[in-house]
Amino acid sequence: MKNEMENDIKKVLYPEDVIKSRLEELGEALSNDYAGKNPLVLCVLKGASIFIADIVRHMAVSLQMDFMAVSSYEGTSSTGEVRIVKDLEASVEGRDILIVEDIVDTGLTLSYLVNQLKSRNPASVNICALLLKKKNDPSTQRMVDVKYVGFECPDEFVVGYGLDFNEKYRNLPYIGVLKEEMYS
Ligand code: 5GP
Repeated sequence: MKNEMENDIKKVLYPEDVIKSRLEELGEALSNDYAGKNPLVLCVLKGASIFIADIVRHMAVSLQMDFMAVSSYEGTSSTGEVRIVKDLEASVEGRDILIVEDIVDTGLTLSYLVNQLKSRNPASVNICALLLKKKNDPSTQRMVDVKYVGFECPDEFVVGYGLDFNEKYRNLPYIGVLKEEMYS
């Protein structure tokens, strides 16, 4: 059956099979780096929910999962203000933390989160992002280091595979660029 959201998509950037094979590679790197460390893998809700469900199944190590929600975006633009909407349940002290995020643009959301987590004395904090937005202007400084990256994507508004526009399109199995007329 044709996906009824398909007409809203301008182009597909990463089809399902491409995401799947990239996740296998990422999972292998993560498995090697976190072997024997029992990391606390943090999902930043809601965008990373589909990514985390898939990536942890490619991590061949014992791990714990927890969920956090922050908000900084409304529609297609950042409000510039980050709020913790849901905090963690697990203790961070002494743990190796892996933050799993859907997409890093300016890095504002994650730099806030990393600072919050570091104040709770973890053993380490690293970021695994499915997408890192390429910046055309080389003078643009990203506010965080992203150690594990799925894809460097074009600087366009993308949806699917967990990423939404006004809570829609998260369940698209691929990642695509939304047609401008959908949000203009
Ligand atoms: P940053 O703080 O790095 O500028 O933005 C990160 C957050 O903004 C992401 O977690 C995501 O929720 C949202 N975001 C940034 N770019 C996009 C995009 O192209 N599409 C969607 N759906 N969300 C985005």
